[in-house]
Amino acid sequence: METLDYNVFAEKCVADLKILQEKFQKDYDLDWYEDWFYNQATGLLTFSTNEVKLNFKYFQVGSFSKKSDTWKWSWANDHTLDNVKETTKVIREFGQSSNFPKLIEGCFPSDEFEAWEFTAISAKIANGIGVYRPVDDEQLKIFLVLTELVDNESAQKTKDKYVECGIHEYRRRAFICQHLTTKKIVGFEEAFETYEDMELGDEDDFQAWCTKCEMERQKEDGWNDKSEAFAKIKLVCEKCYFEMKESNLGHK
Ligand SMILES: [Zn+2]
Ligand SMILES: [Zn+2]
Repeated sequence: METLDYNVFAEKCVADLKILQEKFQKDYDLDWYEDWFYNQATGLLTFSTNEVKLNFKYFQVGSFSKKSDTWKWSWANDHTLDNVKETTKVIREFGQSSNFPKLIEGCFPSDEFEAWEFTAISAKIANGIGVYRPVDDEQLKIFLVLTELVDNESAQKTKDKYVECGIHEYRRRAFICQHLTTKKIVGFEEAFETYEDMELGDEDDFQAWCTKCEMERQKEDGWNDKSEAFAKIKLVCEKCYFEMKESNLGHK
């Protein structure tokens, strides 16, 4: 059986990425945009100039630390959310089947050139449409592969599902009645059975209310102006929601 030489393979990927990236730049003219923003929770990278936006779905290949001169694959990074690192497991599997140690080891001494090589390999294997390195931290360089264009409406729909929490940062949104807290047991009624990190359908949201609200809701034969006024539903993050669920219902 013919074995693939790592260096030959890596060089080919870098050459292919150069062509891919030129096309990507030409197609989307990224330099025109003044701002960029990416978020692990949504998995979206957005370029913008005022109201004009351009969104891509991305995954995070890994990071290069200038401080320690080491490369770390995202799958080995506990701080990277699954949402943006799942794909890197496919790269690792490819490394295993091809016997390429650099694609299998999680963290090791490296340099920036190699970081680009890993990014090129990842773009190749995952069918990326382009790559991006956000310049936000000179000490820790993050490498992203963009996998598809996302139209503004879908991107906004995704972003709307998240909320910035003062305690837990950026999380999925959840709705609760005004009476729910972690400090008092007031009951915990839900729109449907939930558990943390569960997948939600496009139309679903975490929704919970207290026993008193449930009585009000039943009296009114469902949610209407009156029962809703009583509940005064508010927005919290998913983590807060499950903390309230736990304190109200006891440990799961
Ligand atoms: Zn309530
Ligand atoms: Zn929270």
